[in-house]
Amino acid sequence: MSSALVQNYARIDVTFERGEGAYLYAEDGRRFLDFASGIGVTSLGHAHAGVTGALKDQADKVWHVSNLYNIDPQARLAERLVANSFADRAFFCNSGAEAVEAALKMARIHHSSTGHPERYRVITAVNAFHGRTLATIAAGGQAKHLDGFGPKVEGFDQIALNDLDAAKKAIQPETAAILIEPLQGEGGIHIADSDFLAGLRALADDAGILLIYDEIQCGMGRTGKLWAHEWSGVAPDIMTLAKALGNGFPIGAVLCTEAVAATLVPGKHGTTFGGNPLAMSVANAVLDEMLADGFLSHVKRMGALLRQRLESLIGNKRVFSEVRGSGLMIGLQCTDSNLELMTALREQGLLSVVADGNALRLLPPLIIDETQIDEACAALERACAAIES
Ligand SMILES: *Cc1c(COP(=O)(O)O)cnc(C)c1O
Repeated sequence: MSSALVQNYARIDVTFERGEGAYLYAEDGRRFLDFASGIGVTSLGHAHAGVTGALKDQADKVWHVSNLYNIDPQARLAERLVANSFADRAFFCNSGAEAVEAALKMARIHHSSTGHPERYRVITAVNAFHGRTLATIAAGGQAKHLDGFGPKVEGFDQIALNDLDAAKKAIQPETAAILIEPLQGEGGIHIADSDFLAGLRALADDAGILLIYDEIQCGMGRTGKLWAHEWSGVAPDIMTLAKALGNGFPIGAVLCTEAVAATLVPGKHGTTFGGNPLAMSVANAVLDEMLADGFLSHVKRMGALLRQRLESLIGNKRVFSEVRGSGLMIGLQCTDSNLELMTALREQGLLSVVADGNALRLLPPLIIDETQIDEACAALERACAAIES
């Protein structure tokens, strides 16, 4: 570990040399089954031939031209995302936090351009995570992210997830939007109920405000549908994407309706790198896989299988007490310490990632097979036994 780095991460002392599918190989020769996927990013696994090929092909053509010019793979990616979602338009940036920032700016300018400059406030959920910029930590509202970075960006009101009454009470004349993760990731794998989302949609429509979904972690097939909100059938006005869209190549996206897009006119927002040919070509290759026949049904099948296997392990273990989530976005509620379980799993060759509220997240690549589910569950049994002994 280099001391020349800012020490803002409590890094695990493992160095991976290469990856292949669901596996990562450390420089000391150890092999790990990767059920963390770089925090829900490498959903097609490591060293995916199609994605790597797209990157190499584009690298030989042109890397960067800026958004002063047309970018063909960008236009194509936008068309495909729009064709496969509620949205009419897409904007590209480089990360999740940037996508949420853009979404927040879209909400404000939408109202200020349509006769409601007073509408700037955004309702968010407790335990939310929307990124680490000044506005997105305010949106997330978590003390551990805000402490020391004051003054907090003004204009965010928090409600408990799934508390529709609280949402109703939180709407004021200054409210511009409601921002929700349909399935919270960092916050500990908490699902926004379908009724709650339908209720928010109705409240938003009544009040003339926007509904924004942050699908940066739960989108891109992770739950077995392309978008997590499809399980509820309740569409947003704006949706943010990032993590798995580039399978590890930095990218962010905002999808929105025509009504929202119409107010973000030239000069109002921009980015140097966002939408660059490399990221766009990679994301198109990711979509090639995810939109292919059978991809999402595989995720559903593997998700159900993993869920069932994990649930069967609850009863006789004192290490975790609940399995929750959707598809291949799974949380284990730890009874003792999520960090201890993550460490014990790693010692058994399985990578996972912690979440708030003493939860452990399992975010395997969406391409896992039954053998790898067997392998993961065997590692979990061994890790639990090690902890209990
Ligand atoms: C990871 C994440 C973000 C932030 O993405 P970055 O690329 O780290 O800025 C925002 N929202 C959700 C739901 C996330 O999971």
